[in-house]
Amino acid sequence: MTTNGHTHFQRLGRPLLPLLIKPLPNELLSSWIMRYAKALKTKSHTFCKFILAEQNVWNADIDLYPSENFIKQFALKAGITEEQVKATTLNSLYPNLFVERSNVWFLPIRIFHRTRKGNGQMACPSCLKKDPVPYFRIYWRVSFMVACPECESMLIDHCPKCDSPIAFHRLEVGTKESPLEKDICICYKCGFDLRECKPIPCENNLLRLQKRFKILMERGYDQQFQYSHLYFEVVRQIAWLLDSATPKLAAFNELVSTQSGINSRQTKKTEYQKKDLAQRALILIKVAWMFEKWPHRLIDVSRKTKTYKSYLLRDMVHVPYWFWKLVIENLYVLYSAKQKK
Ligand SMILES: [Zn+2]
Ligand SMILES: [Zn+2]
Repeated sequence: MTTNGHTHFQRLGRPLLPLLIKPLPNELLSSWIMRYAKALKTKSHTFCKFILAEQNVWNADIDLYPSENFIKQFALKAGITEEQVKATTLNSLYPNLFVERSNVWFLPIRIFHRTRKGNGQMACPSCLKKDPVPYFRIYWRVSFMVACPECESMLIDHCPKCDSPIAFHRLEVGTKESPLEKDICICYKCGFDLRECKPIPCENNLLRLQKRFKILMERGYDQQFQYSHLYFEVVRQIAWLLDSATPKLAAFNELVSTQSGINSRQTKKTEYQKKDLAQRALILIKVAWMFEKWPHRLIDVSRKTKTYKSYLLRDMVHVPYWFWKLVIENLYVLYSAKQKK
């Protein structure tokens, strides 16, 4: 398939792609597209036009919002099932990670024309180094992942040499009609090989938490939870509490900082998923501290700082029963009773 392979194939009356390049374990759709196009010696743009003529692949977040039609045509032309294509999108984490779609679960890549302004694509340099063919994982877009459970080191969310966001599709820019020759783990801006990044070990508590997240995202349950999204909803709430700039939660946050020894200043107004990796990691270290002795630390800190039901359950649309029960049984204060005292 050449750069004009699109018309070429139509002329030959061959609706199928000439090669089947399967997605690798946990591979993201965008990464798969890049590798597929590279194997066919064509550009990703041409490749996607062949799949679906109206597809402008890099103008939108294809991993988060792929069109149904694109998935259907991709499956048809690669000769695989639609499920196999869907499994490469972020939606594949439904229902294990979430049942209600919300922006909080995934990092935004903030597309501006065809460039990216957000650090929403993360990577594990050690995984990339170990890969026979480097590729990008679905977990590297999940906002609650900051470390790699396998390599036990921190992920990165930008090029350490030039600070640019990781945007491997940009590697094709400036190569005119010639297909991509580099591996997709090269920084598009400065040419730095992300595999050369020195791994930073992940703190133990945080690592345990990250390992659990990954298992739950994969399986959807563990010994404690039959439905993992009910666990993630609470993780999200605890992260929100620990990151809130609400004055009412200042004492709660201060006590957690003192007891855990983690001082993270709240950066007001930035939503969790829009924070950079370092900021999210600090919040998650506190979450990990909280879950290390669950629910005792939450109950203790909440009682000492008089943080009760209205704050603990604040803004939760659907409160998982197990969390609601915990709060009602341990941290529910009847205001009339309180006033009498
Ligand atoms: Zn790794
Ligand atoms: Zn760079």
